[in-house]
Amino acid sequence: MGGDAVIGRARPPAPPAALGTGMTSQRARDRLVERLRAAGIADSRVLDVIGAVPRHLFVDEALASRAYEDTALPIGLSQTISQPYVVARMTEAVLRAGVPGKVLEIGTGSGYQAAVLAQIVPEVYTVERIEELLRQARRRFRQLGYRNIRSKHDDGNIGWAAHAPFDAILVTAGREQLDPALLEQVAVGGVIVAPLGPSGAQSLMRIERTPDGWARENLGAVSFVPLLRGVT
Ligand code: SAH
Repeated sequence: MGGDAVIGRARPPAPPAALGTGMTSQRARDRLVERLRAAGIADSRVLDVIGAVPRHLFVDEALASRAYEDTALPIGLSQTISQPYVVARMTEAVLRAGVPGKVLEIGTGSGYQAAVLAQIVPEVYTVERIEELLRQARRRFRQLGYRNIRSKHDDGNIGWAAHAPFDAILVTAGREQLDPALLEQVAVGGVIVAPLGPSGAQSLMRIERTPDGWARENLGAVSFVPLLRGVT
């Protein structure tokens, strides 16, 4: 291969801004994907998307160099962008029964989880109670060209009735239990993935709605910011 001539271009073109360089490069994302694979994430759809979505654009510029560490990071207003492993685990849990046509996320935060979903799921709905965070997330969705994410400033405890039922609901903030109003918005055969339990002892639960009830599965211990009530 060494004999191939490079014609007409002295340097490779600069990568598009969204791809970044160094700590925010494709190589950094590839390393994160390898780390997640080693940690047990097996769904190639999820790994491919984590390798593609520029997580560094979902955090403050000052934290961009840490965006591909497998860790939660602050996004302001006492909230965090979830750890990539947890995003991968939740997305995998949603996809296990097949790709949902329509998914609802509660807790938009930075918008990263919604972006990951939007690369796989045709229709993504996401609700955030903090207006300022939602404003920033919407700007990211626009800049990155996501056209299948609809978002709303509201208390996610009540879901998004106008677009229900959903094939999957993913809750990215923790609470002891979910409101019946939210549970009712899952289609039969659909699934809810949510961190449930008292703060300090939350479990990531995968709850499938069967024709005659709910089938619960515990996916392990997690630590999420609280699912609060009301909007701000
Ligand atoms: N999914 C986010 C991580 C979110 S952190 C991401 O990918 O970055 C949890 C988010 O849930 C916070 O932004 C918090 O404001 C929001 N939240 C908490 N209670 C809520 C509620 N009742 N309704 C909607 N959003 C809520």
